[in-house]
Amino acid sequence: MNTSSGVEGISNILVIGAGTMGRQIAMSAALAGYSTTLQDISLDGLTAARTEHKSWADSRVAKGKLGQDDAGAALDALAYSTDLNTAASGADFVIEAATERLDIKTQIFEQLGVLTPAHAILATNSSTLGSSKVAEATGRPAQVCNMHFFNPALVMKCVEVVRHGATSDATVQAAMGLARRLGKEPVLINREIPGFIANRLMGAMQREALFLADEGIASIEDIDTTARTALGHPMGPFALMDMVGLDVIDFIAQATYEETGNAVDAPNERITALVAAGKIGRKSGTGFYGYTR
Ligand code: NAD
Repeated sequence: MNTSSGVEGISNILVIGAGTMGRQIAMSAALAGYSTTLQDISLDGLTAARTEHKSWADSRVAKGKLGQDDAGAALDALAYSTDLNTAASGADFVIEAATERLDIKTQIFEQLGVLTPAHAILATNSSTLGSSKVAEATGRPAQVCNMHFFNPALVMKCVEVVRHGATSDATVQAAMGLARRLGKEPVLINREIPGFIANRLMGAMQREALFLADEGIASIEDIDTTARTALGHPMGPFALMDMVGLDVIDFIAQATYEETGNAVDAPNERITALVAAGKIGRKSGTGFYGYTR
């Protein structure tokens, strides 16, 4: 592939990290017809991803939402590997979705700069780390950007493509084009900013909701009801925070605050206390609301 040919030249996609995001991004790529390798250092993670891919495809076929042949073709297009060396050697486009730690990502991007073909584009799915933080390590910063998917990545349409100061137009076009081929509606963010677009909008909503609750102006139930009945949101901000995970919300707030130093970005005490008590939302059975698991 030649980067000037953009999305047309992409055949082989490498997804790094087989966790919550990576496994669904890999399935999306395979469903779109790309030869896709999912790489992780954890064999257990890869085995779980493979099992999930098979059962997801089976359930879609059973519901009549995916043809048997298409499901088979997608599963055949997927390869699983713990060996980055081999997995990277034929990649035209890499989407990194490994653990949210700068040291881990920097090491991965350094290796990608050596192991992938010179034309390969290297994107990170990070929610909080701008790709400028890992771009230099690759030796080809112009071919690096963020490609931020949303959870669940098989369903959510938004992909935020974020360029850093040295990202080339060809890289942006390839990332936007690829996202469209995956059935997404990508948006372009011209400059790195903590939270990108979606998490900034969500953060503003959450801050105001927390203010209203902390001041005793209204109950969390009534604030959520208002978001649904007056604003047409599918769920209120407290229910949404419980769904995302209060640990994730707290982590994003901490990372944003560290970067901006802006008091409005500081983590909320109520959320930090809930996280410390292990009440991190739906996945723990309790957050702002209680859930029967
Ligand atoms: P996760 O913890 O579910 O999965 C991370 C995976 O990375 C694990 O399977 C782990 O074994 C693997 N990993 C760790 N080090 C590795 C290495 N050196 N090489 C290969 N694999 C390695 O994490 P996640 O929630 O899927 O998040 C992954 C990325 O996606 C993060 O950057 C996060 O910011 C971003 N993100 C997450 C969400 C979300 O809602 N969870 C949404 C958008 C973006």
